[in-house]
Amino acid sequence: MENKKELHTWLDKFNLTHPLVIAGPCSAETEEQVMAVANELKGSDVSVFRAGIWKPRTRPGGFEGIGVVGLPWLQRVKKETGMLVATEVATAEHVKLALEHDIDVLWIGARTTVNPFAVQEIADVLQNTDKIVLLKNPVNPDLSLWLGGLERLHNAGIKKLGVIHRGFSTYDKTKYRNNPEWQIAIDLQNKFPDLPIICDPSHIAGRRDMIEEVSQQALDLNYDGLMIETHCTPDEAWSDAAQQVTPDRLKQMFVDLRVRKETDSADDYSSRLSKFRTQIDEFDGKLLEILAKRMKVADQIGALKKEKNVAILQNNRWNEILGRMILDGESKGLSEEFVLKIFKAIHQESINHQEKVYKE
Ligand code: PEP
Ligand code: MN
Repeated sequence: MENKKELHTWLDKFNLTHPLVIAGPCSAETEEQVMAVANELKGSDVSVFRAGIWKPRTRPGGFEGIGVVGLPWLQRVKKETGMLVATEVATAEHVKLALEHDIDVLWIGARTTVNPFAVQEIADVLQNTDKIVLLKNPVNPDLSLWLGGLERLHNAGIKKLGVIHRGFSTYDKTKYRNNPEWQIAIDLQNKFPDLPIICDPSHIAGRRDMIEEVSQQALDLNYDGLMIETHCTPDEAWSDAAQQVTPDRLKQMFVDLRVRKETDSADDYSSRLSKFRTQIDEFDGKLLEILAKRMKVADQIGALKKEKNVAILQNNRWNEILGRMILDGESKGLSEEFVLKIFKAIHQESINHQEKVYKE
């Protein structure tokens, strides 16, 4: 994106509170259900009311959204509660209908972000809109696809752009419905520090008892807002029942969650922080030095294996190292997941080094 300066945060301009809270049901079901949630949220920290009207479902047969009849319900929410209203759009037709009904915030869902044709089609009808447009991350952990979607929307002259981090699909079961892969969102934040980033802990967690924990993690990472699915009788919700919280639970979370400051100007904060950072820099330097030394040994092993015409990959040895490191790591307070990731990467680099020796 060539002109990132234009992607200024619109939170202040729009007079929205920090962190921005978007809440409301996964789906609009009936006018009564929508109004019941909205009335409970009125006057709370929620400044944007969400409800899905068109629902992309993985399998046919699920509730696919109430459709256009739900849009006047959102207009009523806006009129009677003063909250802005938000819904998901997945086609040009959805956008036209949402704009006709003066929906304030349009978000593009994870299943749409993966499809450049669909995002372009949406960008084309949104051309120069002053509505807030939020792009969810694609379902797959692919930063460039997320960035590409953003670029399409930016090129369409949309100024109030933001992103929603809702986690990524994995084949392996994790404790999350959608693995957060925080690093991907951090990379995006680093690229565009002024771009508002909102966390959707509901779709990351997939279960209501983990929503607060994920929300706090997002606030610790200085996210600009949260989108939390809220329903008066969550267990009876027509979609995403397990991950919706009641308005009361949501309000309690606002009391419990800790919003972090971006920084602190007090001298003791900066001097203490810089001491810690110096330590971190020193350790990072040492880590690199040790890794480089380890790879030099790998080169020597490569030369020996080559001389004896032995295969590079020795599974027994590798499994033995991994098992030992996991145990060792645990005793030092390092998680198995982390130790596995690190050592798999180190092992791969060792193989690369040895392969290079083989080719010489
Ligand atoms: C939603 O917000 O209800 C939704 C369908 O989200 P996602 O696109 O993240 O799956
Ligand atoms: Mn949902």
